[in-house]
Amino acid sequence: MGNPLHVRRTPLELAENSQLFEISGKISDFKRLLSIAGSALAAVDPEDMPQNWRNRPVRGELRFGFVDAQARIPALTGHLAAEIDAVCQRCLAPFVLPLESELRLVFGSGQSLEHAGETYESWELDDDRLEVAALVEEALIMTMPFVTMHADAADCVDVPVASDAQENMTLPFANLKSQMQQED
Ligand SMILES: [Zn+2]
Repeated sequence: MGNPLHVRRTPLELAENSQLFEISGKISDFKRLLSIAGSALAAVDPEDMPQNWRNRPVRGELRFGFVDAQARIPALTGHLAAEIDAVCQRCLAPFVLPLESELRLVFGSGQSLEHAGETYESWELDDDRLEVAALVEEALIMTMPFVTMHADAADCVDVPVASDAQENMTLPFANLKSQMQQED
């Protein structure tokens, strides 16, 4: 019956079966993640290209159940962790960006829900069924920063900055020399 991550079912069906998804895949199993990493790396020099960017891990555990004792409100709880290649906007070098997401979700109501001291965020569905693989991708993409950068500037590859600095260093001397020539 194929990969259960790609089977579309209603949250109610998944909750009634107490469905558990153990995810142990890689970036290339998820089309949108593959495409995001691929376009980020498109401008990288071939010699700087990371070898195994398609095989970075995508892992997690997702559990369906009910929020309430009357089994009326299906919910999803779990966590996701992945690594994806990105390009640093400060130094333009590729680096591996860790992604993590804690999920506590209810479906389709458009409103988050408080229950027993926990907040369940509302997850919108295009129709009344969901594909777990698509939810995994979307949840991970939502954690990606708007601008990707080495967390620590000390990790940045400083080649372009250094060559700029060198030019600026030589300029004052060039100016000084032309001034001296004018004074002669
Ligand atoms: Zn950097």
